[in-house]
Amino acid sequence: MDKFDVIIVGAGVVGLAIAAKLSKQYSKVLLIDKNARFGEETSSRNSEVIHAGIYYPQNSLKAKLCVKGKKLLYRYCQARNIPHQRIGKLLVAHNDDDEAFLENTLFIASNNDVHDLVWQSSAQLHQKEPALAASLLYYRLQQELLMYTVICKVY
Ligand SMILES: Cc1cc2nc3c(=O)[nH]c(=O)nc-3n(C[C@H](O)[C@H](O)[C@H](O)COP(=O)(O)OP(=O)(O)OC[C@H]3O[C@@H](n4cnc5c(N)ncnc54)[C@H](O)[C@@H]3O)c2cc1C
Repeated sequence: MDKFDVIIVGAGVVGLAIAAKLSKQYSKVLLIDKNARFGEETSSRNSEVIHAGIYYPQNSLKAKLCVKGKKLLYRYCQARNIPHQRIGKLLVAHNDDDEAFLENTLFIASNNDVHDLVWQSSAQLHQKEPALAASLLYYRLQQELLMYTVICKVY
């Protein structure tokens, strides 16, 4: 083991990213995993969404890292032609409680420096999504889907 500068245990997306970074600094980086190939656990079984950072409490580390990390990830994907789609997400309110929740979400998002939420009326919603029933209002959020298995390969 003393033949390596760094040994990283776990070749999920986190271990792979660490290995990619450290291999610029060290010549002998060893990444090991209990599986035969990298990214065979959580990193290949998630929802493949780039989180926007709208739910985390203001000033929390999660909120800060999510918003910063999202921007870095967009840049990384664009620079390396990693496939991703900007599809957006609907947050739908069905009643007053939901509407209050969405208003609070807009407040939290804005405090977290996320400003791509768009308030729309039920008429606008039905124009776009006629199959969605009895919705009052909703936010449309720019959100991207990413092939995590591809980013694992790029790392
Ligand atoms: C249902 C679900 C949905 C998710 N959706 C999203 C999403 O949409 N967007 C998003 O950004 N994040 C999402 N996440 C979170 C994201 O998938 C994880 O944060 C990320 O994959 C964690 O990567 P990791 O490298 O830390 O862990 P892992 O991918 O689990 O990698 C850990 C690696 O360590 C290896 N290992 C463990 N123990 C040992 C050992 N003793 N010896 C050797 N190797 C070992 C494992 O084999 C594995 O390959 C989701 C998570 C879940 C569970």
